[in-house]
Amino acid sequence: MRFLILTLLLVCFARSEERLPNFVVIFCDDLGYGDLSCFGNPTIITPHLDRMAEEGQKWTQFYVASPVCTPSRAGLLTGRYPIRNGMTSAVRVVLFPDSAGGLPASEITIAEILKRKGYATGVVGKWHLGHLPEYLPTTQGFDSYWGIPYSNDMDKIRGSPNYKREASREPNYYADASDYNVPILKGTKEIERPANQNTITRRYTEKAVAYIETNKDRPFFLYLAHSLPHIPLFASKNFVGRSIRGLYGDVLQEIDWSVGQVLQALRDQKLDTSTVVVFTTDNGPWLAFRTHGGSAGPLRAGKGTTFEGGQRVPTIFWGPGRIEPGVVTEMGSALDLLPTFASMAGAKTPSDRKMDGYDLSGVLLEGKKSPRKEFYYWTRAKLHAVRSGPWKLHVQQREPINYGKVVHLDKPELYHIETDISEAYDVADAHPEIVDRLLKMMDNHKSDTADSLPDQLAARIK
Ligand code: MG
Repeated sequence: MRFLILTLLLVCFARSEERLPNFVVIFCDDLGYGDLSCFGNPTIITPHLDRMAEEGQKWTQFYVASPVCTPSRAGLLTGRYPIRNGMTSAVRVVLFPDSAGGLPASEITIAEILKRKGYATGVVGKWHLGHLPEYLPTTQGFDSYWGIPYSNDMDKIRGSPNYKREASREPNYYADASDYNVPILKGTKEIERPANQNTITRRYTEKAVAYIETNKDRPFFLYLAHSLPHIPLFASKNFVGRSIRGLYGDVLQEIDWSVGQVLQALRDQKLDTSTVVVFTTDNGPWLAFRTHGGSAGPLRAGKGTTFEGGQRVPTIFWGPGRIEPGVVTEMGSALDLLPTFASMAGAKTPSDRKMDGYDLSGVLLEGKKSPRKEFYYWTRAKLHAVRSGPWKLHVQQREPINYGKVVHLDKPELYHIETDISEAYDVADAHPEIVDRLLKMMDNHKSDTADSLPDQLAARIK
């Protein structure tokens, strides 16, 4: 009898050890590096994110693959720079409701990789990788989808009062959700139009919690992509008027509440120690919208630019008992999530194509040094800058507020990004050998990515 009990215990132990980790990615839209209390914001109160950062790893030098929505999401899900996966172009910066393209079917997403290991895979929130049926999440490895297919300011109803107010970038206007004819899709079916965006963060949260409860008995990957704080801003009744930062603060405090709900759902289901949660955002703050846009804190510029404010994002990894708590000042990128999750799930990463991510599991689980030592800053199919260790070289820039405009540089600008976080002091003249080395890196990277262009032209953003 005793032997039987021991055997049963051993089997149970082995089973619980066998459980593959769940992954939850909470992805915001246009959230700035300086918008959370735990990243230094003095007036936006984010207690749930602060607790998450305290219990987990706060990354201070984490980059997204692009300073705008569509290519950034494509980079996160495929582990490849958008120049390789087709989701960047000089024609248009992101996909629009009249775009015919989307993420090519030939691309392999995190969901497809984890699905092969038996994971349930779901998206709640904004997709923005193609709104036509052949590009929706269910064609890219996700079992389920509930959310909006593109940005919350698209499909504007022309002539409506808020259309004009938004266009004039008037501060502190309250948008009307019915002025934006954005649909909510469930799977591939439209279930609501226009989406009631006033309650959208609350409803995404309810869907995410329900997803966790439904899938508690098998490993899952949940991609919770909030459509806020991208303008126009909306918050549920309970949150409007709560933050001294104004409406933008209200929106953030609702997102913070949402994070608390998701983490609590994991604790309630006893999944907190078998789940890795990542909180980050697709790009920096949309500064042109003044008080309706966020803050990049000490970083230069914001969304749409390859300055740090456009691509360095506030990032937290959480997984009690698994993720080593602390502050990580090493480099990481959303491009690294695919190889990191694959490694933790014992899955294979694609070997038939060039990948750009690094496996960060050593940093997350054992506090090792990050394998990422470089980062390439692309936008609109152009390589603007490179970072190698503490050095960053710009060969082209975009205007900080009106990022539609290119700034051509007469000569490259070099910044020591770790001592000069705001990219304020160009030291190119003092370090010609570093300028040469970084220019060489850019040339090599351009040749390395050049071969992916012809294949992807058909799928480019237009
Ligand atoms: Mg965005």
